[in-house]
Formats: sequence, C-alpha cells, structure tokens
Amino acid sequence: MSDLNGKVALVTGGTGGIGAAICLALATAGAKVATNYRNQEKAEKWQADVKAKGFDIKIYQADVSDYDACEEMVGKVVSDLGPIDILINNAGITKDGMFKKMTRDKWDAVMKINLDSLFNVTRHVVESMTGRGWGRIVNISSINGQKGQIGQTNYTTSKAGMHGFTMSLAQEVARKGVTVNTVSPGYIATEMVMAVPEDIRKQVIANIPVNRLGTSEEVAALVNFLCSNEAGFTTGADFAMNGGQHMM
Ligand code: NDP
Repeated sequence: MSDLNGKVALVTGGTGGIGAAICLALATAGAKVATNYRNQEKAEKWQADVKAKGFDIKIYQADVSDYDACEEMVGKVVSDLGPIDILINNAGITKDGMFKKMTRDKWDAVMKINLDSLFNVTRHVVESMTGRGWGRIVNISSINGQKGQIGQTNYTTSKAGMHGFTMSLAQEVARKGVTVNTVSPGYIATEMVMAVPEDIRKQVIANIPVNRLGTSEEVAALVNFLCSNEAGFTTGADFAMNGGQHMM
C-alpha cells in the first residue's frame, strides 16, 4: 500500500460502493479523507459504520452538479483538513434508456452529475495543487465509456468525455507535479450490480474472461497506486480494469 501520510484527499461519492472502498484505502495509506453526500441520513449512518471500523472520514453536503455548492465544499474541506492533495472524481449515476426514448431530463441529469462535476469540483482544487507542486487527480469512468453500450447513450457519452478532460488537464498541469488519470472499471460487485437477478448476472460473468465480477477493493488499490509518489510518471492515461472483457 502506498504511503500517503498526511495527504488530504477528497473523494466524491464516497458513500457509494466503489467510493467507500477508495475512501478506506486512501485512509489506510495514511491520508486524511473527506467525501461529499446528498442524502444526510445515509451519509451519517455510513460515517458511523466506518468509524466503528476505525476510520475517521469527514463528510460534507454538496451536489456535484452544483458549481457553487462544490466551491463551498472545497472551502470547508480546506479549512478543516488543509489544502487538497488528492481528488477522486467518483460520484456518478445512470439513467438508462434507448436513445429513441431518451428524455431531456435523463440526458441532462447524467451529463450534469457525471461530466459537469469534473469541472465543478476540479476547478476549485487544481490551482492549489499546481501552486504547491504536487497533486493527484483520478477520474472514475467506465468500461462503457470505452466501448459504448446499448441503452446508455447519455452515460457512455459522459464517461467517454471524462477521459477527454483527463488528457487535456494532464497536459496543462504535468510540469507542476500534478497527475491526472482515468480509471475505467468493468462490472464491479457493488450493491447495484448484485441486485441484478442472478441469471442475468451469470450471463454478464460469462462474458468476462476472468469469470467473475471485480471488487471495489481492486478498483481502490489501483486508485491508491495512482495517488502515490511512485505514480509520478503516470499521467493522462485511461486504466481499464474489467477482467479482460474489453481490451484496447
Ligand atoms: P453508487 O451508486 O454506489 O455510488 C454513487 C455515489 O455517488 C453515491 O455516494 C452518491 O451519493 C454519489 N452521488 C450521486 N450523484 C451525486 C450528486 N449529484 N452529488 C453528489 N454525490 C452524488 O455507485 P458505484 O460505487 O457503483 O459507482 C461509483 C462510480 O463508478 C460511478 O461514477 C460509476 O459510474 C462508476 N462505475 C461503476 C461500476 C460498477 O460496476 N458499479 C462500473 C464502472 C464504473 P448519494 O447516495 O448521497 O446520492
């Protein structure tokens, strides 16, 4: 595990399946970790659960599709924990539907939460990273942003767009000690995926060469590496973690 002693990390969507594993992995490596939430009751229960496991994760209310709310959240994290060294843009949603039936609302919600959020959060964080000469930004995309998926024109567009953001920002900040990378998980055994009926899950797994779903902890381990000092030469890349389901 990388040594992130004393680094300050902000993980968006940390109360969800993958985000929670990332929060705990970064905290285990020594980082001071903060996350955001929309649903206060859910977040407070999550915070108490992780506290019982020995983790002190700070939580802040903010909708990542709201630019001003993100500015306020970043301000509070900085004043409570110090300047942010590590930013994991992980919050995301799906609102699936075939394109001919895709509504404006579904399109806009996915774009605002999955893609606009990169601007809304990163904009308030990156200058402080470049000013201090060290920073790590990891954007959690998806296998479906790399290969497309029926019924997900909104989601796949947002997820493919994330990597465009990664590549451009990586070039802008590379000389200042800040790296920007994308991680594109395949099917991960989160609550959402495990709620899919077992016969359909079996069909999904049949298309994954390693013959199983991935785990949130595996995604978190890759994120931790990308946040380490050892990953300083790794930037602008899109890391597939999908059990061999899609090879580029
Ligand atoms: P979850 O649904 O478990 O968690 C999503 C998190 O994002 C929750 O904490 C949720 O908070 C937060 N969130 C959603 N919308 C907003 C918003 N507008 N403002 C602030 N926070 C928000 O998702 P996963 O853990 O499964 O997924 C995490 C990321 O990984 C997503 O970007 C997803 O697209 C990606 N991914 C997931 C895969 C999988 O197999 N699970 C595969 C590939 C990619 P709240 O509950 O309070 O709304």
